[in-house]
Amino acid sequence: MCSPQSTSWRRPCARDALVIRIVGAGPTGALLGLLLERRGKKVELYEARADPREVSADSGRSINLALADRGIHALKAAGVFDRLGSALLPMRGRLIHYENCDTNFQPYGQAGEVIYSVSRHRLNQVLIEVAAQRSRVRLFFQHRFEAADFGAATASIRDLRQDRLISVPMQPLLAADGAGSAMRREMAARKLIQASETDLEHGYKELSIPAGPGGGFRLAKDALHIWPRGNFMLIALPNDDGSFTATLFLPKHGPVSFASLSDAGSADEFLSRHFADARELMPNAVAEWQAHPVGFLGTVSANPWHVRGEAMLIGDSAHAMVPFHGQGMNCCFEDCMEFDGSATQQSWQAVFTQFGAARKLNTDAIAAMALDNYSEMRESVADTKFQLQRALSLELERRFPRRFIPRYSMVMFHHEIPYLTAQQRGAVQAEILSELTAGAVNALSDVDFGRAEGLIISRLPPL
Ligand code: FAD
Repeated sequence: MCSPQSTSWRRPCARDALVIRIVGAGPTGALLGLLLERRGKKVELYEARADPREVSADSGRSINLALADRGIHALKAAGVFDRLGSALLPMRGRLIHYENCDTNFQPYGQAGEVIYSVSRHRLNQVLIEVAAQRSRVRLFFQHRFEAADFGAATASIRDLRQDRLISVPMQPLLAADGAGSAMRREMAARKLIQASETDLEHGYKELSIPAGPGGGFRLAKDALHIWPRGNFMLIALPNDDGSFTATLFLPKHGPVSFASLSDAGSADEFLSRHFADARELMPNAVAEWQAHPVGFLGTVSANPWHVRGEAMLIGDSAHAMVPFHGQGMNCCFEDCMEFDGSATQQSWQAVFTQFGAARKLNTDAIAAMALDNYSEMRESVADTKFQLQRALSLELERRFPRRFIPRYSMVMFHHEIPYLTAQQRGAVQAEILSELTAGAVNALSDVDFGRAEGLIISRLPPL
């Protein structure tokens, strides 16, 4: 009998080896389960929270997400993408809102290259709906992983509905339990892996821009809106009901910070002063400010990601990153695709070792690029030289498509280009852009495209 048992230890039985257990049925765990099931594996998913099909979304917790090519590619492979339908809102670029209320639209890529705003809750619901239809997937909601006995290769999971501890075999157990992963902390506490959690000095708070009369959008619905203000910024992504979810990123402490703006009056004054046009569209901003917690942002690093062939971290539990490239979940979905491709006939230990070694190079690269992007979003996007370089990079892509693809586009629109390649080529391209726009070059018409061709051919091999 291989179903979950009450807490007494037992030796894993032969059939256990055929069941892959996943802790956490967030985006990573649910998608991973679907991909592995598609290969004929039996999967058990243990999730601490209630079934998302039966509850409404948490407010104040990253309500919508940017979905890009890497995530789309994985969702298509799992047969999920087409079921998202109207939950996907295409965003063609950034709409920058200046302090004087002027705006500037910056396309993300070439015509037709878009990213999508998608509801986190709806995406999770669809993943679980599809998983529930697969005969080889078993779902256990309100089941929280609490401890692992490495060596005995068992995990203790609490059935929260009955407050009962059950013991399940690991070998393998895939821990997709998010940035605060209990499995990672346990592996690290026992010195089986090294792990770190580096908090950003900035946090975030979610606010909302309700739909207009009749459910209309009160800002352009095909853009990601940014109010860059140097050391802080507000962004807003559209939702399919006509509303926008706005997120304020601000230092946690200091003269202008969540700590210094703790009362309703100072928060209201701050929002009205720095985001006047947005404030007019946010009638509930002060109540939301008081009701919503300040969210933490940070980078998680772990090495290795596994303990023998018993358990492995995957998704945010292995490599959570700051959200400024809109890639955290996209990267997790790419993890799932790559893990699925590597889960062959070898031992689990060999699979875990090879997957972690190859994948970490790429997840480290996107974590670093995500940090870089914070200063780009809150500061550089408003700078005219930066805007010229963005326009030039898209022009160079049109002229030299096999050699020059903007770094942002490599990350967001090209799942076939590894993150590490995007980071390395991006650094070379940044130098080329800087050389081509130095001095009195103020417009695309001032750029020496003959020189551009020489620099590109000599420094960037074809992709
Ligand atoms: P999680 O989403 O954290 O899911 C983990 C799951 O495990 C949860 O369901 C949780 O309940 C469950 N769990 C936790 N502990 C246990 C336990 N002990 N036992 C059982 N279950 C457990 N990414 C993007 O790609 N695009 C974006 O635009 C984007 N925006 C973001 C904005 C913000 C403000 C933040 C904070 C993140 C953003 N991200 C974005 C990142 C994205 O949210 C994460 O990368 C993604 O949610 C990670 O998925 P996951 O399944 O690995 O972890």
